[in-house]
Amino acid sequence: MGAERRAWIEIDLKALEKNVRFLRSRLPAGCRLMAAVKAGAYGHGAPLIAGALQRLGVQAFCVATAEEGAALRKSGVRGEILVLGYTGRESLALAAENDLLLTAADLEHARLLNSAGLRLRVHLAVDTGMRRLGEPAEALDRLEAACRLENLRPEGIFTHLCTEDGDFCREQAGRFWRAVDALRRRGCAFEKAHLLSSSSLLRFPELGGDYARTGLALYGYGAPELKPVLSLKARVAAVKTLKKGEGAGYGLCFQAKRETRLAVLSIGYADGLPRQLSCGRGSVLLHGRAAPIAGLLCMDQTLVDVTDIPQVRPGDEAVLIGRSGALRQSAEDLARAAGTIPNEILSRLGSRPERTVL
Ligand SMILES: *Cc1c(COP(=O)(O)O)cnc(C)c1O
Repeated sequence: MGAERRAWIEIDLKALEKNVRFLRSRLPAGCRLMAAVKAGAYGHGAPLIAGALQRLGVQAFCVATAEEGAALRKSGVRGEILVLGYTGRESLALAAENDLLLTAADLEHARLLNSAGLRLRVHLAVDTGMRRLGEPAEALDRLEAACRLENLRPEGIFTHLCTEDGDFCREQAGRFWRAVDALRRRGCAFEKAHLLSSSSLLRFPELGGDYARTGLALYGYGAPELKPVLSLKARVAAVKTLKKGEGAGYGLCFQAKRETRLAVLSIGYADGLPRQLSCGRGSVLLHGRAAPIAGLLCMDQTLVDVTDIPQVRPGDEAVLIGRSGALRQSAEDLARAAGTIPNEILSRLGSRPERTVL
């Protein structure tokens, strides 16, 4: 491991392969994986992950923006790329040039897409209860009108499930499939209809569809069979000894209650670590032991208390996400300590930590 790196991300492609195999074993009949690689593949690195998934036979991807989709094409991703979010007029030419599938957020948005005169390929969003994007499932006339716009090719239709509650998911799925059936009877020939994401694929695969749009599960979260793909590590830059009663860091928020050894890690909140982990709410792993974060996290550096891990030296490797000896800390553990969810922790890991493949 390059001895001079300050903070880095290790990507375990074997774990990714294992997760793909497990998720494929859970797909309902006729359903394929659509890998969610938005937000830099949840911080893992979009070209790296999409390329690896393509080699594993994944042929459909989804992203949040046309710019993310275009970047994937540039890195050599073929197959379908669906933009899940709202696409504005200024990005439509880019979408057409890169053969992206665009989400039509509702009839008004479909009209805007149509007005570019670009023969855009679209998937219609249907709102079945989340109240985010989509025409309401009951608005059949408006959905049909969106399908019939002369410059759009309505190739697909989808909804997003928003709870882990089985009754509500089944209600949403019922609304969705009734709308799809009614629209198909009216002559809207969608090739693809989809509604599952990670959590619903793992819990309610019987809800069906042509794609399961999976993000978090691919990266190793949501079932014991899944393996985390990403580890986050940082270098110990220095080790300091404080006398009892001395303070450290901004505001001297850390106060040594005994003679204390602090390790200075080369990673901070600008690398994506939540500042909420400050003052002992979060820990890092060193030599197979947990070291609590001391005082306030800085933008580029973090102090940790290693008084009880006397072998820590400058140059050592600290694990923020991943394994150290017999201990493991997951993005879920960090998320819990910071009061958030692993998706947020992972997707905010910036571009500064270098990505390396194991
Ligand atoms: C992000 C996203 C997904 C993937 O969600 P996971 O829970 O990570 O599987 C699926 N569908 C839509 C519409 C999304 O925005």
